[in-house]
Amino acid sequence: MALDRFGRKIHYLRISLTDHCNLRCVYCMPEEMTFRPLPEMMQDDEVLLLTRLFAGLGFDKIRLTGGEPTVRAHVVDLVRGIASTPGIRDVTMTTNGVLLPKLAGPLAAAGLKRVNVSIDTLNPAKFQRLTRGGDIEDVWEGILAAEAAGLTPVKLNAVVVRGYNEEDVADLARLTLDHPWQVRFIEMMPFGEDTDLQTGSVVTAEETLGRVEQALGPLEAANGGELDGEARVFRIPGAQGDIGFISSVSAPFCASCTRARLTADGILRMCLLREYEIDLLTPLRRGASLEELRRMVLEAVWNKPWGHGLAEGEIPLNRGMSEIGG
Ligand code: SAM
Ligand code: SF4
Repeated sequence: MALDRFGRKIHYLRISLTDHCNLRCVYCMPEEMTFRPLPEMMQDDEVLLLTRLFAGLGFDKIRLTGGEPTVRAHVVDLVRGIASTPGIRDVTMTTNGVLLPKLAGPLAAAGLKRVNVSIDTLNPAKFQRLTRGGDIEDVWEGILAAEAAGLTPVKLNAVVVRGYNEEDVADLARLTLDHPWQVRFIEMMPFGEDTDLQTGSVVTAEETLGRVEQALGPLEAANGGELDGEARVFRIPGAQGDIGFISSVSAPFCASCTRARLTADGILRMCLLREYEIDLLTPLRRGASLEELRRMVLEAVWNKPWGHGLAEGEIPLNRGMSEIGG
């Protein structure tokens, strides 16, 4: 079991399969994004080897992310390989949903359990503006395909950005009346060069909750008042689904964090919002033994930062969200 020095059991690995993406969300990457050349990224056998290594250290839960994980070549085979790794009991994915109409069935058959699909508004024009060109119909079809393939319960992620979609949160929340989905509102976080928009346009979870309740009436606590992962969960009385609020900026959940992240270029990052990183891919390619790599991972886990420093104005500058894996 991998423990950090604060006693947190770290067993949840988010693997970024690529930094490439078929959208350009305003809060995630610049319009003229330069992507990493493919040889710099973990190859399929390297992803699978590192998965085995982490599984051997007690990591049992994997989320595949990016960039956009579905644009990675051989993603279905990779999911199959990861899901069949001894010790791994849960493989999920965060995706923009655009390619799910084609991939949801094969991914489910390969062992993927659930998906989180990002959809920040139901308004087609606003969606296009937020994603710089995306077509909301693709995402909607992707959500339905995920549900039909049994990748359930489907969770929908919405980052709330002032001036873009803060007025749209009630429409998103209303989806839970007739669908057994969890709609999750996420506070925007600052990274690297996109910092101006990200710090100037944050809408707090409290504000979003207020806006939803103003439109739909008081929400009731769901999940027995417990956090669901990082989300505080509520329900519109009588609704099929529920509504989560993720307040990473205004009320962080660092004390209960169990995560580590592996970037597409094979860097282990122990906190999304701290620059502390350990390169695993270079030593692996230089012939480091599995025992050496294992020791590097355990040391990195031990040194996992307690939490982020946004309140003190410490913003991670070395990578953007799409380069870390959200
Ligand atoms: N492309 C996939 C997607 O959009 O779901 C997976 C990668 S994306 C980086 C993962 C999640 O991070 C998405 O839900 C996205 O909305 C969120 N995200 C991106 N940039 C963010 C930011 N600056 N603050 C908070 N969430 C962000
Ligand atoms: Fe692509 Fe996801 Fe970032 Fe949007 S949030 S640009 S879909 S990686």
